[in-house]
Amino acid sequence: MKRIIILGSTGSIGTQTAEVVRENAEELTITALAAGSNVAKMEEQIREFHPRYVAMWSEEAAADLRARVRDLEVTVYSGMDGLLALASMEEYDVLVTAIVGMIGIRPTIAAIENGKDIALANKETLVTAGHIIMPLAANKGVSILPVDSEHSAIFQSMNGEPKKRIAKILLTASGGPFRGKSKDDLRHIRVEDALKHPNWSMGHKITIDSATMVNKGLEIMEAKWLFGVVYDQITVVVHPQSIVHSAVEYVDGAVIAQLGIPDMKLPIQYALFYPDRRVMNQKKLDLFEIAKLTFEEPDTETFEGLPLALKAGKCGGTMPTVFNAANEMAVSMFLKREIGFLDITKTIRECMENHKVIENPDLEQILHTEQETYEFIRNRK
Ligand code: NDP
Repeated sequence: MKRIIILGSTGSIGTQTAEVVRENAEELTITALAAGSNVAKMEEQIREFHPRYVAMWSEEAAADLRARVRDLEVTVYSGMDGLLALASMEEYDVLVTAIVGMIGIRPTIAAIENGKDIALANKETLVTAGHIIMPLAANKGVSILPVDSEHSAIFQSMNGEPKKRIAKILLTASGGPFRGKSKDDLRHIRVEDALKHPNWSMGHKITIDSATMVNKGLEIMEAKWLFGVVYDQITVVVHPQSIVHSAVEYVDGAVIAQLGIPDMKLPIQYALFYPDRRVMNQKKLDLFEIAKLTFEEPDTETFEGLPLALKAGKCGGTMPTVFNAANEMAVSMFLKREIGFLDITKTIRECMENHKVIENPDLEQILHTEQETYEFIRNRK
């Protein structure tokens, strides 16, 4: 029996991970769950999966939950201490990091230090602290198993291949809901337009990140850390059908890709059972039905998030943290209708221009840079 903890269990990746557990109940069990404030969903999950430990971000939500589940044997923690308590527990095998944002860094590090494998969806963690996490994981003999569909596809395309023979990673992107539009068209985009992703149903933050293409920028940085390549080896390919989830080109010119319908349950299940595969009772890819797959270059003039991400990644140090933190705050302001759609990447650019890079930052410096970036945006308003 593989014992898992899901951080962010009430979200898009979290609930799909719970589905995978439900469908493989004889092999997977849930030791603990964590979420932000969705007490009703968490109660439902506790009653179905019977975790012994749970954490809610706010103490208020934790108190509410304790009252709701007082008939069950479950300990409810709160705050960062709660997340760290779960990550540091002995009685589990894999931590699924499905929290959104930089809040995931400390529990991920705690789990690695605890010798636990990580099924990683929370890309913000690697973007900002990849230089700490990857060497630590290697040192502790811990696997970082990608859950992001593109990175899972790359991981699957590298199976059994010599890493040193990789020429290029072909990172595919749907192009989001505004593919083909000009900067002028994007000036008056509303929140509801940006939340309509053509192929994937995801949490709000990543859906907006896909519309700005900042998500692809974050994924470039995530790929660099996961697969140990340099930025010039990563090419973004816009592929509107989201069938080729990404590919790897080898030195002899062979390109190996992973294809499938757009469904996160496959990469989640693959990460949980790696290196094995399990049956999935899902719709299968029908190439006759798809008939046509198309590929194009990204429009980096309209979608400024992509070149800014590359700049932040190549600059390194604390710059990826600034890119990420500025984006997290700007997206939250856009969702509250405080700024316009194009202001998201404008905010990132301004924060990056204002920042003095710290090379090889430690965790404290990363978290300080995050706060400094938020402050810069608040004072600029
Ligand atoms: P959602 O917004 O759907 O879910 C986020 C989860 O995190 C919820 O369970 C939420 O709880 C929880 N959460 C938020 N803040 C806190 C906190 N402070 N403490 C504890 N829990 C918290 O996000 P997604 O599932 O879409 O994305 C999660 C991560 O996975 C992101 O990093 C995203 O980039 C990545 N990812 C997502 C994909 C997708 O298809 N959705 C694909 C690939 C990567 P609550 O519900 O209570 O607020």
